[in-house]
Amino acid sequence: MNVVWRKEWIHPFESPWSILEKFAFANVLSHKELVSVIGRRVGPNMTPSFTRSMRNLITLQGVDSDALSRFLNYNLHAHNNEYFDSLIRSVRTNCNYEQYWLKNNLHWCVECMEVGHHSLCHQFLLIDYCPYHNKQLINLCHNCKQPIPYLLGEGLSDAFTCKCGHPLLDLSTKWSRWSQRFKIQNKSLTKWIINNTKNADQTRGLHWRIINDLSKRRVNFDFEQLLLPSEVEKQIRYEYYMGEESIQSFDFNNTWIYKQIYDITRDVFKSIDKYLRRTYIHKHKSCIKRLNCLLKEPGEPFPEICPYAYAYVFWKQSLLKYPPFYEKFCGARKMNAVYDFTISTPLYEDVIRDLYDQTIIHSDYFRNYSFNAFRWMLAKSIGMMYLDWFYSWYDSAKHGAKGVYLPNIPENLIVAFGFSTKNKKIHFRKIRISEHKLEKDLICPFNTKSKRKVSPSACEHTPLALTMLNRSNNTEQFKYVNDYIRRLSMTQ
Ligand SMILES: [Zn+2]
Ligand SMILES: [Zn+2]
Ligand SMILES: [Zn+2]
Repeated sequence: MNVVWRKEWIHPFESPWSILEKFAFANVLSHKELVSVIGRRVGPNMTPSFTRSMRNLITLQGVDSDALSRFLNYNLHAHNNEYFDSLIRSVRTNCNYEQYWLKNNLHWCVECMEVGHHSLCHQFLLIDYCPYHNKQLINLCHNCKQPIPYLLGEGLSDAFTCKCGHPLLDLSTKWSRWSQRFKIQNKSLTKWIINNTKNADQTRGLHWRIINDLSKRRVNFDFEQLLLPSEVEKQIRYEYYMGEESIQSFDFNNTWIYKQIYDITRDVFKSIDKYLRRTYIHKHKSCIKRLNCLLKEPGEPFPEICPYAYAYVFWKQSLLKYPPFYEKFCGARKMNAVYDFTISTPLYEDVIRDLYDQTIIHSDYFRNYSFNAFRWMLAKSIGMMYLDWFYSWYDSAKHGAKGVYLPNIPENLIVAFGFSTKNKKIHFRKIRISEHKLEKDLICPFNTKSKRKVSPSACEHTPLALTMLNRSNNTEQFKYVNDYIRRLSMTQ
């Protein structure tokens, strides 16, 4: 097959999305035809499939690297890996995948798109403005206001054309402007990239994964906040390889530290809990009791669940890992007597353990800041984690409460800390993974004073009470209550 292609149509950091759109456009191929030409064949006579996983633009796993390299005279897989790596190398951790760092929907700059260009930078989670034009990125078709998934051919009717028929750029100029070169204007991004390219381990030091953001909007992410001054980096790298010795330089004994960590997690949990009680759920105390004790009239169906109570009860149940409805709320977990590593909120035990282990690795560096630095970081991150976890439940409360089910809520993820020795300040950056648009007004079914009041004849139907019900030979009720509890139980 003879193809129309020029090497100068490919730019540094350009995403496979626009490269493949250009290829399809120049050769008048539909996306299906494009996949049949460059798609990976599983067997000798198999035609490449058009499934989502085969059209993944992050892994490019559905694209036949050899075939495409022949057409483009260029290795797109290597291009993608290399540039992607120079964006995320220093924030990559064992437990997050490439996908975390890219937005799911296409984000683009109008000026770049006008010349057929879309950049991996535009897809990078931390970037909201085009690094070439400093224009805010958009993610909806101008005409139909629909998003376009970051997936080969998805949401498009033709090359560079939204499925509603609206072209994303003026296609009458054809490829006359595709060779236009770009230069990154954002200095801190340039520095970030250089840093990522230099050495993979260098900046790994203190980027701790924990959580997401509560703030309204990332404006333009200041990457320098995440870069460590070189003298600090040297120190960290040195300490990192010190191994055992550096552990001793953390001046405190384990028992003392474990107790401190426990206290921090307990105090922060208490204050967030108090905050929630004072704000979101202050009118729903009886709703909470109704749900948590599974109160209902004997023989009647369960009353509708109040979404506020739903958010609060399951936030707490999951955070503290209570067995479903077995216990009355008795607060955070207690520290065990032997002073092992314990935290008050078991859901985040591993995350906090990891944070602590990393601190030990960098202990010498921490000693300069005293334990207070660690205390501050821990309190700050877990406070957001706890609150953010509540917001996730709050987001799902409307549907979950109505449908009597528990959604799958992904655990929140990343936070990063940057250090600067200059002013003895710790910079703190939250990196958002999920978006929370809090629906302000959930509707409580018990919205008057008289409705709110729990009827004196209502009884508990918790798993413990269920045992009694079973003895009373009321099989129908038993099955009904049992099923209800099962629907609201977390599988852990
Ligand atoms: Zn641009
Ligand atoms: Zn459209
Ligand atoms: Zn309520």
